[in-house]
Amino acid sequence: MNTQQDYHIHTNYNDHSDPDLTIENVLTQAKRKNLKSIAITEHVRKSSEWVYDYVEEIEHQRKYSDIKVVIGFEAKILLDGTIDCLENLARDFFIIASFHSIFANKKLWLNALKIAIDNKNVDVLGHLAPEKSFQLYDHEIEELGDLISKNNKIVELNAKYHRPPKKWVNILLKKNVRFHLGSDAHSLGEIGRFDCIMDLIQIIDKYNNNKLI
Ligand SMILES: [Zn+2]
Ligand SMILES: [Zn+2]
Repeated sequence: MNTQQDYHIHTNYNDHSDPDLTIENVLTQAKRKNLKSIAITEHVRKSSEWVYDYVEEIEHQRKYSDIKVVIGFEAKILLDGTIDCLENLARDFFIIASFHSIFANKKLWLNALKIAIDNKNVDVLGHLAPEKSFQLYDHEIEELGDLISKNNKIVELNAKYHRPPKKWVNILLKKNVRFHLGSDAHSLGEIGRFDCIMDLIQIIDKYNNNKLI
């Protein structure tokens, strides 16, 4: 996998990242880490009022960088499968859809996930994994894999949460699902750091090498 990419980086536009995680510093750190392309993906809600300042600041800062900088948001998947992001934003920007609350109900969780996969405005499924209280059968993961491929979504290898589970990666690969890397950085030091998910990266590299032979 190309490890000079990081498609899941937060900023200090939220209230729980490091204060020095400014957009300017993100770009400087990405350059220092020799990254070639990144996506800045702040947590968004329908009620977020900062979104246009954020977009404007990234548009401005990226003019001074030779890194490819994608403007994005991480949106929460809600119980009904919709995402907590205004339609026009979701349509115009790069969207990671992630679970951020516990449903404690496999059926509801699967239903919401399938609706999110079907959402044309969603680009990526972030830190995908079942909740602690349930597991998925292989055939259920295969079914999700078919749906993800059919809808052309990307599954993220997330460094912060070490997800998806290895078994999922193996099954989804066989369903031709595409993957990319996301550090989920909430501090400058975490940008572009993937050493903790080398096991997941190796599964994908090995699978693709075997396909080439
Ligand atoms: Zn998240
Ligand atoms: Zn995140």
